Amino acid sequence: MSLSEISARIAKAEAKAGRAAGSVELIAVSKVQPDARVEAVLKEGHRLFGENRVQEAAGKWPTFRESFPDTKVHLIGPLQTNKARQAFELFDAIHTLDRPKLITAFARLAQETGKCPELFVQINTGEEPQKAGLRPKDAESFLAECARNDLPISGLMCIPPVDEEPSLHFALLAKIAARNGLSGLSMGMSGDFESAIALGATHVRVGSAIFGARAYEL
Ligand SMILES: *Cc1c(COP(=O)(O)O)cnc(C)c1O
Repeated sequence: MSLSEISARIAKAEAKAGRAAGSVELIAVSKVQPDARVEAVLKEGHRLFGENRVQEAAGKWPTFRESFPDTKVHLIGPLQTNKARQAFELFDAIHTLDRPKLITAFARLAQETGKCPELFVQINTGEEPQKAGLRPKDAESFLAECARNDLPISGLMCIPPVDEEPSLHFALLAKIAARNGLSGLSMGMSGDFESAIALGATHVRVGSAIFGARAYEL
């Protein structure tokens, strides 16, 4: 499917949900994709991308940014504390803040550099043991800890369990965000971004529907 088709489907979903045109940002998830495919999407004019590994992003985005300097890249995969500084320098937003250690690291980096990427807190809405993110019931105290460290949080992010109805998880994430006064919702992927938009997504993360299937899964 082409980028313009995805954009059209997003616009339609926004209208259907009674939301303003352009209220949903499309993050084109370029992880593992060949450079030629990514460059084609850049040449179509798209400027917002998602990566889930710091190392992989560090290998390709500094070069792409020389040709397309207004490009923004978001980290949507897990972050090790020892890569916090590199991530801070490389990404315009980080969607996977989920540990007190990262709060401390980011607070220190923000103070040192005087800037901070946009931050989303990841919630493990399905409470899956193998998955990153906070349990829903721990969200409030974690957000309070962010506030105590003067760390501004834009919103919440989730990855629903593969075998469950995603809209239940989108609704839960929206509820936790509303309860905590957060407006950003990073949710929805290739197979379910329209239902995420219906439930308030502000950032959808779409990979294979734009670029085609990945050569291998991470
Ligand atoms: C890979 C990935 C996506 C994109 O998945 P698609 O099904 O290819 O759209 C979205 N979010 C996260 C966190 C991912 O790792």
